Parts: sequence; C-alpha cells; structure tokens
Amino acid sequence: MHTLTVSEMSAGLRARKFSSLELTLHLLGRIERLGPGLNAFVTVTADRALADARAADERNAKGDGGPLTGVPVAHKDIFCTDGILTTCASRMLSNFVAPYDATVVRKWREAGTVLLGKTNMDEFAMGSSNETSFYGPVRNPWDHARVPGGSSGGSAAAVAARLAPIASGTDTGGSIRQPAALTNLTGLKPTYGRVSRYGMVAFASSLDQAGVLARSAEDAALLLEAMAGFDPNDSTSVDTPVPRYTAELKQPLQGLRIGLIKEFFGEGLDPAVERCVRGAIALLQREGAVVKDVSLPSLPLSVPTYYVVAPAECSSNLSRFDGVRFGHRCEQPKDLLDLYRRSRGEGFGDEVKRRIMTGTYVLSAGYYDAYYLKAQKCRALIAGDFARAFGEVDVVLSPTSPTAAFKLGAKTSDPIAMYLNDIYSIAANLAGLPGISIPCGFINDAGTELPVGMQLVGPHFGESRLLSVSHQYQLRTEWHKRAPKGYA
Ligand code: GLN
Repeated sequence: MHTLTVSEMSAGLRARKFSSLELTLHLLGRIERLGPGLNAFVTVTADRALADARAADERNAKGDGGPLTGVPVAHKDIFCTDGILTTCASRMLSNFVAPYDATVVRKWREAGTVLLGKTNMDEFAMGSSNETSFYGPVRNPWDHARVPGGSSGGSAAAVAARLAPIASGTDTGGSIRQPAALTNLTGLKPTYGRVSRYGMVAFASSLDQAGVLARSAEDAALLLEAMAGFDPNDSTSVDTPVPRYTAELKQPLQGLRIGLIKEFFGEGLDPAVERCVRGAIALLQREGAVVKDVSLPSLPLSVPTYYVVAPAECSSNLSRFDGVRFGHRCEQPKDLLDLYRRSRGEGFGDEVKRRIMTGTYVLSAGYYDAYYLKAQKCRALIAGDFARAFGEVDVVLSPTSPTAAFKLGAKTSDPIAMYLNDIYSIAANLAGLPGISIPCGFINDAGTELPVGMQLVGPHFGESRLLSVSHQYQLRTEWHKRAPKGYA
C-alpha cells in the first residue's frame, strides 16, 4: 500500500479496496520501523492519525468524502498544529504546543487528510542539508551517509522512503525544490501569495511560501488545490480564484516554449547532473516543445541578494523569541537583560545566530543603504529579468541544484559552500515566482545511484502550466517511480 501515490490511494479508498484505518496502520508501522534510521520525524502523531482515519472511514462510508478523505499526510514542523508540538526544529520552540492550526494544516484537515506526524527540518528553515536541526540531521533514504537536502529534508525523506505519500514543505530560497531534487521527488513552490502563510513560523516573510513534496505532479496538483487560496488571516495571500489544477494537467507539450537559463548551465554545475537535465530537454523537444536559450544576466546576483534580504527579515521575525512569551527560557535569570541574552543564546543554534547577526548588521544605521537597500534594488533587477524572459517563453528551465546529494558533514564548516546549493532556486523566491523540481535521471557516484532534479519556473500564478508540463513529462518517463533500495 505504501507504494501507492495519493491519487492511487484516493482511488483505492473510494473503491473500498482498503480503509483509511488499514492504510494508516500500515504507514505508522513503516514509520516505527524505518523512521528512526532516517530521523525524518520530530513527532509522530499515532493516536491522532488513528482518530483521523476512523473519522475519514465514516465519512467515506456515508459517501460524503472528497478525493483526499482518508489520505495520510505529514506536515513540516514549521506549521502550527493545534494541541501538537510545533518546534521548527529549534531548542527555542522545543516545548511549544501550538494553540491553533496553520491555514495549510486546517485546509488539509478539512479535506479529510490523516495527520501522521511532524517532520524534521533545518532549524527555523535555515539550511540546505537538514543538518542545523536541534533534533539532529535527517538522512537521505538513497544513501544514509548523505543529506536529503533542506530545509524540508524530513518531509522529503519521509515521502521518498514511502513513509507518507505526500508532505507539506516551505520554500524561502529552495527548501522544497532542492530536497525534492536530492531525494527523487516532485517539489512545488507556488507563487508568493498563492498559499496562506498564517500559522507558518516566519523566517523571511517576503520570501516564505508553503508547498508540497510529492511523488508525482498529479499528486502535487491535488494537494495544491486543497491548500491554495485567499486567507483573510494573511494580508499577503492573493484573492484570485484557485484553478482546478488536476483538470489542467492535460495541457499538451506541443508548442510549449521553454527557455534554458544560460547563466545556470555554466561553471559549478556537475557535468553528470547537466547530462541528465539535457536528456530531459531533448525529450521535451521530441514531444513538440520549442527550446531556446535565454539570458537572465542579473540571476548570478541571487545568492548575495538573498543573504542580505533573508537574514534582515529573519533578524526582525526572530526577535519575538525572547524567553518571555514563547519557548525556551533560561534558568534563574539575574535580570531582564540576562533573561533575553541567555534564553536566546541557549535557544538558537549557530546558523540561526549567524543569520540574526548578519541581518541586524545589514539593517543597522550606516549600513542599511550599502546592503539592504542595494539588495532590494538587485531584487528588482532579478524580477525584471524574469518578466522579460516570460515575454518570449512560457517557462524557464534549469537544473534544480548544481550537484546530487552530498555527504553529511561535507559542507557544515563552510557556510558559503552550503549557501551555493540554492544557486539555481533562490531567484524564483526573490521574484515571487512559482517553481517546481521534478526527477530527470540518476548519476552514479562511486557506485551509489543518486537522483537528479530539473527545475521549471513560470510566471506569477503559472502553477497550472508547471504542473501540466511536469505531468506530461512523467507520463513519458519512469524516473519519478524509482524508490530507494530498502524502501520500495
Ligand atoms: N537554503 C536556504 C537558506 O538556508 C533556503 C532555505 C529555505 O528555503 N527555507 O536560507
């Protein structure tokens, strides 16, 4: 049962081939057996899952269930879940039980999904390898010695290992797409504003966006439909109708105009990764897509721009964690200042502190113009490059990440090397655009088979096209169906 996609599970539930309770028990068994080796979950909500499953079975028996009623899911531990620990993988929030559901959590719950648990992640979503978690690193099911990517690495590992058919993630600079690429999944980051951020612990508010890690574009479409839409609780969510993404998957590849981002096929890209992506491009061409090179000359500014903007916003967002209202508080503070200092000093890990310090610096009087203001100008240039490209092509294509999964510990002592993992993904966040990563092949690294992802980015609210191109590609390829050894 665990090999089924969400769409197949949904069909099986509706045809009464199995109940949600049977499905849920089966997956909980796998999580118990295989979960600890991956460290994919911070919290497993077994009792809640069983209660959800029983309720879903009743709803389905009455015939008033929807396509997701009874389908098990996992949520990244950045989403507030009513009455359930919500840690953001930080010591700071290691005792925080959220008093309400995030909008994404509420919508999936109302659609009838079953909550299996909360997945591990980089602390406050800061990282590209899932090694900054207070709960320890997550392992990649394709090779336990390697990282699953980050920051949504727990969600990626859980879905890739068939512990959950789908999971939520968040993407501020690549945190859905990069782990999807490193674990052979389909990862969708919607347009900024497409999905409500209410109840999602804030990292960089102008960049953060919720999305999904799935095993097919079809599943991603199904779950996006259930999570997208305007939310009066999030003033940046956009009030435009949510398309029937699943109905639009049929759009043909014939005539699709694809732009290859010239700047993203150069130095730093592993030639073996490039070969996989080029193979996928050739297939799309054979199916009638028109491919041309496009130049987006400001895109190489993305990483430096992001590492000013994101820390600036995080330094402000994380100032609320002061040991008074939320989370960790130090023992026996001498006075108020000591309480702040020690609570924050003990509660945050190194990477989070590095970001808060950088952010405070770039926002400080005297440096604001030189860094923050300049970064905002670069951001406008990057958005302008994309806008021009979408005058000529429907989607732009590139690798998702310059390399396949790397070894645990390989980049932890060099923050810049770590930051460069997101070199191809960050620009979409700076411009607020939707992006998707889909499996497009495997490389062989000293005998280990490792998945490779390619990225498609579209114009604002162009999720439909990204999903249909991905779906059409997946109808013609088998990469996305491969499971890691020991988890099939
Ligand atoms: N890896 C990037 C960072 O460390 C992006 C993280 C994210 O998308 N949440 O900030």
